[in-house]
Amino acid sequence: MKNRFSDYIVDFNQQDKAKSVEKIFDDFSKVVIEKKNGGVDNFSFEDMMRLTMKKIKKESNVDINVPENITFDGVFNCLVKYPVEMTNRCPENVGGAYFPPGRKVYINQNAREIDKLHSLIHELCHYLFKHDIGEYVPRCELEAEFTTYVVEKMMGIENHHSKFYIFFVAQDIDNIEQTINICKDDILRTSKQLLQNLDCYL
Ligand SMILES: [Zn+2]
Repeated sequence: MKNRFSDYIVDFNQQDKAKSVEKIFDDFSKVVIEKKNGGVDNFSFEDMMRLTMKKIKKESNVDINVPENITFDGVFNCLVKYPVEMTNRCPENVGGAYFPPGRKVYINQNAREIDKLHSLIHELCHYLFKHDIGEYVPRCELEAEFTTYVVEKMMGIENHHSKFYIFFVAQDIDNIEQTINICKDDILRTSKQLLQNLDCYL
């Protein structure tokens, strides 16, 4: 039984990195279901914040490793057809947000490069899933972050933050296996939809 979140990172790192949306989805699903059913019940929000958010802020590239050729501006320019606006009205520690009434994504122009990049993809997932939410809804977060994970993995971004966040979200979902099955087609479709704009990184 593993008790430390860093143990789970090792599991992920040992997976092979086949370039297929379906394979990445299947591999990730297996691990999420296994961890949830195997009892990551000690998993708490405080742990996640301590082990990921703080690390991400203070030690860049500890939890999110981005290849050198991938920049926020580069990805932003690829996704320019979607309604995204840069803003300086976000709280400092927020990378961005999706605003359902206006069907628009806002990115904090003062956030760190990696936080902007990750938020851009995550919030666009909410937009593409047409999530009509303004609060934390586990299934919506599962769909958005799961899709983000698949997209980023295809681009060669190793995002350990996503893994922690998915595990955190999974704790709030009763039947995780069934939920992932129900969401599967939409996650795959949305991953491909976003990746179509990002061919230059594949
Ligand atoms: Zn979200």
